[in-house]
Amino acid sequence: MGTPTRESVVKALKSNALTIFTILGVFGGVVLGISLRASREEKWTPREIMYVNFIGELFLRMLKSLILPLIVASLISAIGSLDLSLSGRIGARAVTYYMTTTVCAVVLGIFLVLTIHPGTGDSTSIARAGTSYNGTTVDTLMDLIRKMFPPNIVQACIFHYRTVLKAPEIPPAPIINESSLLAIVNEDGSAIDPTNPPPASLLDWEISHEYAQGTNIMGLVVFSTVMGMTLGKMGHKGAPLLAFFTCVSQAMMIITGWVIWFSPVGVMFLIAAKILEMDSFGVIVGQLGMYYLTVMIGIFFHGFVVLPIIYVVFTRTLPFRFIGNMAQTLATAFSTASSSATLPVAIAALEEKNGIDPRVARFVMPIGATINMDGTALYEAVAAIFISQVRNVPLSLGNIIAVSITATAASIGAAGIPQAGLVTMVMVLDTVGLPAEDVTLILAGDWLLDRFRTMINVLGDSLGAGLVNHLSKRELENVPVAVELEK
Ligand code: ASP
Repeated sequence: MGTPTRESVVKALKSNALTIFTILGVFGGVVLGISLRASREEKWTPREIMYVNFIGELFLRMLKSLILPLIVASLISAIGSLDLSLSGRIGARAVTYYMTTTVCAVVLGIFLVLTIHPGTGDSTSIARAGTSYNGTTVDTLMDLIRKMFPPNIVQACIFHYRTVLKAPEIPPAPIINESSLLAIVNEDGSAIDPTNPPPASLLDWEISHEYAQGTNIMGLVVFSTVMGMTLGKMGHKGAPLLAFFTCVSQAMMIITGWVIWFSPVGVMFLIAAKILEMDSFGVIVGQLGMYYLTVMIGIFFHGFVVLPIIYVVFTRTLPFRFIGNMAQTLATAFSTASSSATLPVAIAALEEKNGIDPRVARFVMPIGATINMDGTALYEAVAAIFISQVRNVPLSLGNIIAVSITATAASIGAAGIPQAGLVTMVMVLDTVGLPAEDVTLILAGDWLLDRFRTMINVLGDSLGAGLVNHLSKRELENVPVAVELEK
């Protein structure tokens, strides 16, 4: 390697200008947020924060608008352009990678939280924040499977199914006279205070369901995968529809190319507004500092040591350039806190900068963004064990194994949207016998952890696409591109 000339430096800067500006946007957002916060004594009002967030909000809206058509069209066109056995092999490689890395993340998280032991056994010193969702492990798991099979595909674009548990109504105690309540007795004859009934198990609560706002991406992924396989199998009869979806997928990628130019400013205002909105940092760091430190060590070690090692072992190439090329994608993941919103940017970077075959990128990335969340899995395991430490709940080996299984399932079930991990966390807490509302112990400052774990989720998906691309290269070279997927 010779000394870089002025021309080569200028050329490198030009080709990476957008990445450099986006990273500057992240720092600019932090500086802007801190300066605005420090510029006056009183808190910024929600309206003022909304004004600061406006540009960032527009950027996020543009990205979100691409998710639905991109996921459906990309999966159908990528899978449809491969024959069934090859798409099966590529899918199996991706899923094996997802499961292996998620299990590694959970094991690492459990090792760290048991070694560092961030919970001091004093839950009263932690200020609770926000609210929790009520749910049992079995309901959360069954909802996850239900979501894979949406009864109405149009409805799945807008709503997702959710089991809702309602507390049984407690009949009012009959009044005997003006001043006393009728004594209600237990089976053993001891009195129950009718104004303070014992809590019922969630399993005894009334079951109902609702269709909540928010795309059922899992359902659309399953449907599009089956549709892609079917069109591929139909041969020339399926070709017109395949060409249609390929065209939609290409169009979405072209629009993504334009939207990406907004990243530097979008990222800057999203971060500045979030900094204005946050509570005092000191309180959070003081109460939950060790817990945050444990999660951060875990996700950074996983993302920048474990995953790259797996990548090197299978591809025999160093991952630095690959990860460097994903810098803009990681900045977008950090500022949006959403794997789904980052998906268009990630696919563009993989194809254009890392040379990943579009048939692989558009096949494995939508699936990865939906089910592969290493950062979330690690965080769920650490958080559940941290809460049991704080609550002084002793954990047996069986409990720890149960936490690792449910944390894996919880990360698969979490949607790629901000703080989705908190919803499925209820299931992990349930396995160690902790109530759903204990989630509120770790809510303060969770927005920041969410951004870091989203970054690692996206990095995991991207390295997975690189690895699967490497392993499938030979087979793909032998398969003519049935319907042109190149830009
Ligand atoms: N925000 C994360 C993501 O989109 C999910 C989570 O951990 O809450 O990947």
